[in-house]
Amino acid sequence: MARRAVIVMLDGLRRDFVRPDLTPELHALAADACVFPDSATVFPSCTRVASASIATGCRPGRHGIEGNTLALMEDGRPVLRDVGPPGFFAHRRAVTGRAMDVPTLAERVAGHGGSIVFSNVSPGAAFALDPDGHGFVYHRALSAGPGGIPVPAGDALAVGPGIEGDRAMTERFCDEVLLHRRPALAVLWCGSPDTGLHANPPGSPAAVEAVAAADLCARRVAATCRRLEENGDEVLLIVASDHGHQTVEAVVDVAGALVDAGLKDAPESDDVVVAPNGTAALIYLHPAAAARAPAIAGFLRDRPWAGRVAEGEELRSLGLSPGGPLAVALSLRDDDAPNAHGVPGRSFAAAAGPGKAVAIGCGQHGGLGRYERMPFLMIRGPGFPAGTRSPGPASLIDFAPTVLRHLGLAADGMDGGPLQLARDP
Ligand SMILES: [Zn+2]
Repeated sequence: MARRAVIVMLDGLRRDFVRPDLTPELHALAADACVFPDSATVFPSCTRVASASIATGCRPGRHGIEGNTLALMEDGRPVLRDVGPPGFFAHRRAVTGRAMDVPTLAERVAGHGGSIVFSNVSPGAAFALDPDGHGFVYHRALSAGPGGIPVPAGDALAVGPGIEGDRAMTERFCDEVLLHRRPALAVLWCGSPDTGLHANPPGSPAAVEAVAAADLCARRVAATCRRLEENGDEVLLIVASDHGHQTVEAVVDVAGALVDAGLKDAPESDDVVVAPNGTAALIYLHPAAAARAPAIAGFLRDRPWAGRVAEGEELRSLGLSPGGPLAVALSLRDDDAPNAHGVPGRSFAAAAGPGKAVAIGCGQHGGLGRYERMPFLMIRGPGFPAGTRSPGPASLIDFAPTVLRHLGLAADGMDGGPLQLARDP
């Protein structure tokens, strides 16, 4: 009898979208699983940040990937970097000495059955699960095995983003990874419904279609896991999302506002570096400008487009680490009012920089709005009684310790804890 863990991420699926009419398959799965009505994401509520927290069991302040975009200290100055492209982690390793600041699940299960990731989101979010190449990561930009060595061309994952790519990836994941290769940890990360929600208003027909597509991917994996169980495996199946979505009400040029206020020298200056993260922004200071932090935080708190502003030690309450170049975190203003399709939750969003539009009226996330902070989570397997609802909270940082407990491996040094009810599942 083999113990194995399977994680299925349906990117961006809001918890209140998991209901019989929108996601009938997840609704059915819930009857066989333990559902977590109080599951939480991390801040910023962005995919690459969430992926790193799932991989490490740690909050962003500890693993060091505190934004989809962030600043790295390079030659003593903060430099804005996008975590999305394939080369980010090699660059971070070159600059800081490490791809990520704490070990990953992939590292911990290497030599104990190994890990295989199939991902249809950004390369950065895919490789945040295993940036040092301890197992296999399959992504359209790069499919690589242990040591980061690319797999043979015919083995690479060649699917496009969106619903059709998710469907093809899920088929291959089930047939090849789950039934034949049988790693200790298998992760499937679907881009749906996130891609559909970013491109369409939440609640619109195209967004509903993206939710339905994700629902079918979950059904396919759950059914395949049942086959594994019938053959004697003990399967821990985690089906979840990384964050939810808000509807974008307006877009704000945070860096421009700081320049206009005399708090930043110029739009491209590196005294103050603004890293946009959807409905949030992270503000980094050059050491020579460190004393500006309280003034910047005070200015932001007075803006009509600001929500929560955290500066210095207040960053800890958001799971971030003070003391470095990250000085201020901003969640843009949000409310619970409905959009044109009756879906509640609106937010302002930070301008994303040249060539990257943020679509007003469409879905977005990153901040502390109620619905972007509402991922869903259900777990089927030993230690998770079928048809129950967990009375306690849960977070993305609990996934790694939960997987490791199921596999009988140590989970030391993590911020999260195992979610199993029984001490010895
Ligand atoms: Zn996401």
